[in-house]
Amino acid sequence: MLKGKSAIVTGSTSGIGLGIAEAFAREGINLVLNGSRNTPEAEEIRNRLASTYGVKVVFLPADMGKVAAVEEFVRKSVEAIGPIDILVNNAGMQHVCPIEDFPVEKWDQIIALNLSAAFHTTRLVIPGMKQKGWGRVVNVASAHALVASPFKSAYVAAKHGILGLTKTVALEVAEQGITCNAVCPGYVLTPLVEKQIPDTAKARGITIEEVKRDVLLKAQPTKQFVTVEQVAGTTVFLCSDAAASITGTHIAIEGGWVAQ
Ligand code: NAD
Repeated sequence: MLKGKSAIVTGSTSGIGLGIAEAFAREGINLVLNGSRNTPEAEEIRNRLASTYGVKVVFLPADMGKVAAVEEFVRKSVEAIGPIDILVNNAGMQHVCPIEDFPVEKWDQIIALNLSAAFHTTRLVIPGMKQKGWGRVVNVASAHALVASPFKSAYVAAKHGILGLTKTVALEVAEQGITCNAVCPGYVLTPLVEKQIPDTAKARGITIEEVKRDVLLKAQPTKQFVTVEQVAGTTVFLCSDAAASITGTHIAIEGGWVAQ
């Protein structure tokens, strides 16, 4: 039932966003891929998804942390694949630092990208979804939308915020065939996580191996990293007819982390 729908997946040149884009392409969904910059890899991904799955795939680079860039991005997305049926707000960044040293510009960047970008994309696609009487918004939040960890003040604040946005949007559009939900992954071994391991080691004064064992996987009772495919599969489910009555909530995909 998703074949022929149109979707935006922000931050889809890597990690979880790329996994969701690939799962959507497999379902026959036409796609807008996004990353902050135009790169040869982005064009390779675009080509591969379009030729493997026979769907329309366009790549539109845009810095989703900038309001004007988001507005232009959504306008160009609609021009390229038509009014948007499915919006996945995935682009995100992390910075790990004690609060007293946390760079102010990093705080502003993280709030802009991990929270405000979702507000802007959502406000811009909802009118089209209302016209169609169908829509799906999935926000890629985090287990850090549900619980905190030290040294991640901006990230945890933004991710808690996006759950509030998710619930509010869901209530506003509940009678229009549109759902809005969040997925809350635990640790997935993507470039975003790999990059923060050395900073976490520095902030805590421990080794890289100790960060993986005693910090990252310590939180996950399964002792396994969550996979990109697991997050992508849950996102596809939230877009399906079976999930039409699931709205304003989140699905935690975190190996039991928040059950503790
Ligand atoms: P990643 O670093 O592998 O990918 C991030 C993507 O966002 C890339 O495509 C990158 O180009 C894009 N991006 C970065 N800055 C951007 C900007 N300013 N404008 C547009 N695009 C930009 O990261 P990931 O681990 O796949 O994370 C994706 C999302 O999943 C994030 O919102 C992250 O918070 C969330 N998440 C990740 C994990 C994890 O363990 N990896 C866990 C929970 C939640």
